[in-house]
Amino acid sequence: MKKIVTIGEIVVEVMATQPGRGFLEPLALVGPFPSGAPAIFIDQVGRLGQPCGMIGRVGDDDFGRINTRRLAADGVDVSAIAVDPEAATGSAFVRYRDDGDRDFVFNIRHSANGGLALDAAGRALIAGADHLHVMGSSLFSPAVVAATEEAVAAIKGKGGTVSFDPNIRRELLALPGMRAALTALLARCDLFLPSGPELLLFASAGDEAGAVAEILSGGVRAVVVKRGAAGADYHDADGSFSQAAFPVEELDPTGAGDCFGAAFVVFWLRGHPPAETLRYAAAAGARAVTRRGPMEGASTRAELDAFLATTQERAR
Ligand code: ADP
Repeated sequence: MKKIVTIGEIVVEVMATQPGRGFLEPLALVGPFPSGAPAIFIDQVGRLGQPCGMIGRVGDDDFGRINTRRLAADGVDVSAIAVDPEAATGSAFVRYRDDGDRDFVFNIRHSANGGLALDAAGRALIAGADHLHVMGSSLFSPAVVAATEEAVAAIKGKGGTVSFDPNIRRELLALPGMRAALTALLARCDLFLPSGPELLLFASAGDEAGAVAEILSGGVRAVVVKRGAAGADYHDADGSFSQAAFPVEELDPTGAGDCFGAAFVVFWLRGHPPAETLRYAAAAGARAVTRRGPMEGASTRAELDAFLATTQERAR
């Protein structure tokens, strides 16, 4: 079976139990939950039984330990998650607004994550891998950008594949060199997994169909557009089709895109046809939103099969 690796931020997430705006008053909070977009992604890969590992950095503290223990318990190779005795594990505080938007307070760059770089353990993990998944949110420092570029070159150099989820965060887009790093990644990836509005950021065409055509002509093998409760679309050189979302009660949307992407990459690498792959991904995304906590709703294969056997897609 092919081994999947990812690189990037590991945080704990603490969330407000009531919707509203901001964190200016004392609030009831719940957490810490293990989190970080690439950590959620790789946890979902592990739960599906696919060999996988993560390159990351945590502090020598309980916030780090709840992450490494969870990932290891779910089958993720944590040998390249470094423990920094000098810095604390990253954190993210989130509060949902009534309109569905979210307020975040992130501590990523100034946490143990800020020292993330490629070391011998990271290089060994990449050397034994077949596929690399990169998230735009992880490119928070020049060292991570350099590490990601080295990892992409190593994987592609031995005939492996790369998937890229831009997962754009407004505050990161302003970092010097960020746009160039994202564009360079798009040019080298095999699978591109944007959320709907992100698609137009990566093409000169002003409409989605034009943007997809442009991206596919640049060498990307498949473009999968995530649209939350409106489902997802798939595009490759042979054509396009849509997958409606499954009707579920949304309790916490964080992690849906990461679980969706993980299931997509796993079933794609296992050689399932695109429509079946997209259906599994949509099921993983739907199940993810039904549980509070970023990676608490990640699914096993048996859970996805049971869900698909009993749930009909929403009419589009
Ligand atoms: P991202 O967080 O990356 O923008 P999305 O929110 O679009 O990702 O979620 C990814 C996928 O998960 C969607 O394309 C959809 O298939 C599924 N999904 C997300 N939210 C829901 C929901 N409320 N109900 C059903 N499926 C959902």
